[in-house]
Amino acid sequence: MAILLPTSTAGSLPKPSWLAEPEKLWSAWKLTGQELLDAKQDALRLSLHEQQQAEIDIVSDGEQTRQHFVTTFIEHLEGVDFEKRETVKIRDRYDASVPSVVGAVSRQKPVFVEDAKFLRSLTDQPIKWALPGPMTMIDTLYDAHYKSREKLAWEFAKILNQEARELEAAGVDIIQFDEPAFNVFFDEVNDWGVATLERALEGLKCETAVHICYGYGIKANTDWKKTLGSEWRQYEAVFPKLQQSNLDIISLECHNSRVPMDLLELIRGKKVMVGAIDVATNTIETADEVADTLRKALQFVDADKLYPSTNCGMAPLSRQVARGKLQALAAGTKIIRQELSS
Ligand SMILES: [Zn+2]
Repeated sequence: MAILLPTSTAGSLPKPSWLAEPEKLWSAWKLTGQELLDAKQDALRLSLHEQQQAEIDIVSDGEQTRQHFVTTFIEHLEGVDFEKRETVKIRDRYDASVPSVVGAVSRQKPVFVEDAKFLRSLTDQPIKWALPGPMTMIDTLYDAHYKSREKLAWEFAKILNQEARELEAAGVDIIQFDEPAFNVFFDEVNDWGVATLERALEGLKCETAVHICYGYGIKANTDWKKTLGSEWRQYEAVFPKLQQSNLDIISLECHNSRVPMDLLELIRGKKVMVGAIDVATNTIETADEVADTLRKALQFVDADKLYPSTNCGMAPLSRQVARGKLQALAAGTKIIRQELSS
């Protein structure tokens, strides 16, 4: 990246109220058919514009064309029955009614490739595209076919690799895999989680990232955080393996979190997307607060490898709050750029 401290968001941005019910996660579409397709494209344009107005350097689609960061991808696959639902515990944390894997999983056609081409046609800026990671995908399903989390993860990794290669061909600069499950199932991450992720990025020449956070600001997550004590050391269990992996970038939650910043030393050498915006509060950070988090991270991340970002997606926030937070991210980053150049 030519620019020092390039800014980006971890993922989703709020949708306009004419597309889906605002300030709600995973809300239903308000339109159908061709109207919905057109509206999604309009929302993507708008989301890009908001990022550009805030001077975000690495832009995304704001996940305007998907309802859910995992399920929307799975909906496009064969082998999963969305009518046959079972209740499972997601990330060992909360019960949810999920679809069932009923046969061999496969991808018959691209999922997000047309959307990525559309975003590419709108901007020359570097673009980042998010996909769910294999472990987070299996954790959001009931498996009545493979009866093995690991086997199913390897199958999803192959499918993700097909999609990722086509996204790369469409001009995506950074492909990010969302793996919040990496913060929960440490033994599995070390046994096969990172390996399946590496399978998903096999053969890619573009940059690759993994996003590991403490989740959206929903109650199940904020309640869980309260049980984690004064120091959140979850990253410590998976960082050594990630440091050794082929991934280029690791995207993390750092702002207002109890993650000890010195854990970043364990991934020294990797590029780090440092979450400097809290997505679980409507309070808009000041530029100084953002700068403060980045300054702390700089003790453990080389300046040319630090990418200021958000803790997680901002879909559940109001557009006004999200806009303010994007501006704060850019303004705080500017302070540190000046400090580094003086
Ligand atoms: Zn996240």
